Amino acid sequence: MLYYSLNKQAPAVDFKNATIRGQAPDKGLYFPETLPRIPESWFKDIENKTNEEIAFEVIKPYVGEEIPEAELRRIVKETIDFPIPLVKVKDHIFSLELFHGPTLAFKDVGARFMSRCLGYFAKERSEKVTVLVATSGDTGGAVANGFYDVDGVEVVILYPSGKVSSVQEKQLTTLGKNIHALEVHGTFDDCQQMVKQAFADESLTGKKFLTSANSINVARWLPQQFYYFFAYKQWADKANPPVVCVPSGNFGNICAAMLAFISGLPVRHFIAACNANDVVPRYLFSEQYEVRPAIATISNAMDVGNPSNFVRVMQLFENNFIDLRHMLSGYTITDDETRQTISRVKNETGYLTDPHGAVAYLALQRYLDEHPQQKGFFVETAHPVKFYDVVEPVINEKVAIPESIAGILNLPKRSTEMEPVYTKLKEYLLS
Ligand SMILES: *Cc1c(COP(=O)(O)O)cnc(C)c1O
Repeated sequence: MLYYSLNKQAPAVDFKNATIRGQAPDKGLYFPETLPRIPESWFKDIENKTNEEIAFEVIKPYVGEEIPEAELRRIVKETIDFPIPLVKVKDHIFSLELFHGPTLAFKDVGARFMSRCLGYFAKERSEKVTVLVATSGDTGGAVANGFYDVDGVEVVILYPSGKVSSVQEKQLTTLGKNIHALEVHGTFDDCQQMVKQAFADESLTGKKFLTSANSINVARWLPQQFYYFFAYKQWADKANPPVVCVPSGNFGNICAAMLAFISGLPVRHFIAACNANDVVPRYLFSEQYEVRPAIATISNAMDVGNPSNFVRVMQLFENNFIDLRHMLSGYTITDDETRQTISRVKNETGYLTDPHGAVAYLALQRYLDEHPQQKGFFVETAHPVKFYDVVEPVINEKVAIPESIAGILNLPKRSTEMEPVYTKLKEYLLS
């Protein structure tokens, strides 16, 4: 499989090079040259397949010969070694729970898959890869965890001192081994700036094999399809395919779902559920695509003013607005509506959503109110405890901390403090 740049000013590359580079040299996103077609008979048999088989067969055409089969099977197995259940919430509404991974958010799957692919490619080159990331909180945890103890990969994470939550800081600083946390006395923008300077510094990149763990990387994007195949396997009413509602920020997750659909996965309709950052719902309504600065909301992982993966969504529909509009609806949900939904769903059904899941729940409900014959699921992208500061006052109850997180709260923090100055970072990387 080759990947071309959506800016069309750079050569096509294989999976290995697309993974190592992340973004094409012309700053375009990589996109597969051909989209695999999965036959109907495969879906008829899906209940007899294990998740590992499903994931392996889905990802195989994208990886091609770049990773040997046995190795790819191992990578897939390690990537999805936690449950991804489809849970009934109400008559026509189900929840696809993507928060059972180690950092309690769906980004675990993409981060784990990418890290293991990179680890494999690094071994082949017999040269260590250093993954350099700046984080404002959440991505860092998923990356740290996903890359933890992967051979041949060192991870350096810059975070702004005192500006991430205590749970997030523990997720970054307690792992040790190949994960190194730099506690920068500055802002997230300082961290981001230092990282950018490192990538642009040839006197550094000539000596060190540096890469980013950016969310546009094909090795993070493509494995997100797995969730939707697993959901279909658990979907009881196969004659009536689901409406799929995804809380969206950068549109990587929903784009993977739509790619699965183009490959043959039965889906009735897609819904992009957004908070106040609603460039795409507005576009679907007016055909005007207007990028705006991000607005802060209580579903902050979706506070994106210019969703980077939306060009891929457009490409899946060959840039045809009518075809896209036929398959995709968008909804804008306010913070007040999000809080009300968390409370109402909890009271009516006992099910507790996090703010992102609540945005998706309400969007799905609005759509189903207008399409009463249909059924669907929303994607619950994070465990409610990750957003306890929003959730607890709304439900007037404490949210229990799952074991997996409780364990790290008592571990000692290990970080290297650093002034927000690029030369300090460079010294550190070269030492
Ligand atoms: C990243 C994230 C999202 C948004 O996913 P995209 O792929 O960027 O659209 C939604 N919810 C949570 C909890 C996230 O961490």
